[in-house]
Amino acid sequence: AVEGLAKICIPDPQLYRRENGLYEPSWAPVFYNPKMIENRDICVAFLKMMLEERRDIVVLDPLAATGVRSIRIALEADPSRDFIALYMGDISLNAVEIMRHNIELNNINKNVFIRHADANEFIYQLVKREGIAPSYIDIDPFGSPAPFVYAALNGVKRDGVVALTATDLAVLEGRYKSKLFRRYGVVGVKAVQSKDIALRVLLSFIVRAAAIYDRYIEPVISYAMNHYVRVYVKVSKGGLKADKILKNCLGVAWCCTNCSYSYMDYMENNIHRSVKCPVCGGRLDPIYPIWICGIGDEKHIEKLIGIANEMYWLQKSSRVLLENIYRVSRVNSLTTRLTYLAKVFKINVPSTYDVVECLQQKGFRASRSYIYSDGVATNASINDLIECMKR
Ligand code: SAM
Repeated sequence: AVEGLAKICIPDPQLYRRENGLYEPSWAPVFYNPKMIENRDICVAFLKMMLEERRDIVVLDPLAATGVRSIRIALEADPSRDFIALYMGDISLNAVEIMRHNIELNNINKNVFIRHADANEFIYQLVKREGIAPSYIDIDPFGSPAPFVYAALNGVKRDGVVALTATDLAVLEGRYKSKLFRRYGVVGVKAVQSKDIALRVLLSFIVRAAAIYDRYIEPVISYAMNHYVRVYVKVSKGGLKADKILKNCLGVAWCCTNCSYSYMDYMENNIHRSVKCPVCGGRLDPIYPIWICGIGDEKHIEKLIGIANEMYWLQKSSRVLLENIYRVSRVNSLTTRLTYLAKVFKINVPSTYDVVECLQQKGFRASRSYIYSDGVATNASINDLIECMKR
């Protein structure tokens, strides 16, 4: 396969296709998913951005599979191969072999180190025994990143970045209440805007895990796409700052599954009372603790868009996604779904474009959701939103 500027040897899907014609990348001996190109495109642009801000980056990619991600970082973010050292690993020997082959195939012959190891073991080994602190760690597992979060947050260099992919979206979204609590320590139900919630559940888990090490996080970019969510967090040191962030950034989402009205609140306000939805009279369900601060840093996302635009070989869909993420991150609110609200008010569903324009004219921040086609994110009150819908 060719992806970005890399040539990658991957397992032939034909060999692992089931009799009914189905194929899942996880059925092959080494994992390669072409549907994750946007995920890697943004990752490569992110590393290019990091390299503009600091020199000498150590990248740790401990669940590397074919190695495509790190190879692309090498070729596309640091073609001189002078500034980024790559540490790649996988628990599968097949993966490690194909990774080595792919490194040769792309003529990457310096600053690259491959190891056959468990990801947590690799992180601890590198940091604690060899004294090499990675400035960027990429956790890209099958399913949940939770089993690798502690090692990554503890291992990453001060002010470094940890990026995580989670494909256990159903759990993060709250489809299985007990698993949501068991895996992420969050109480809740599946909301109408559950993908927004999924991101905030993951960030809540990460900030609490970081706090154990007197560390705190600042999300640089967070997004949901298809079957996964992805977050990039900057990790810094400081117990007092960690306390402050836990206090200000962990809270409750109150969500009405009937009309999609929702809001985020601090933890102090009693979460045990049952609350009536002020819009439709239905029930508001609490989901907590979730991350209620911003999920992205406007300046960095803007910069990332600029960098991605210069990298002409990236997918157009990756550039579009970044623009979308930028728009929505600026608002920092949960999505309201117009089809749900319209049903309650017995009106036709207005276009999200018109509603957003109306809200912006009133002076609010507002954006169409890129996740829900009927979704609007805004800092306006629900009354202002309803007024714009009825116009
Ligand atoms: N990052 C890759 C990419 O961008 O193409 C895809 C990684 S794939 C989703 C997950 C990989 O993690 C698989 O290759 C699997 O063998 C590996 N893996 C699973 N458990 C692991 C563990 N405990 N330690 C290290 N690698 C592991």
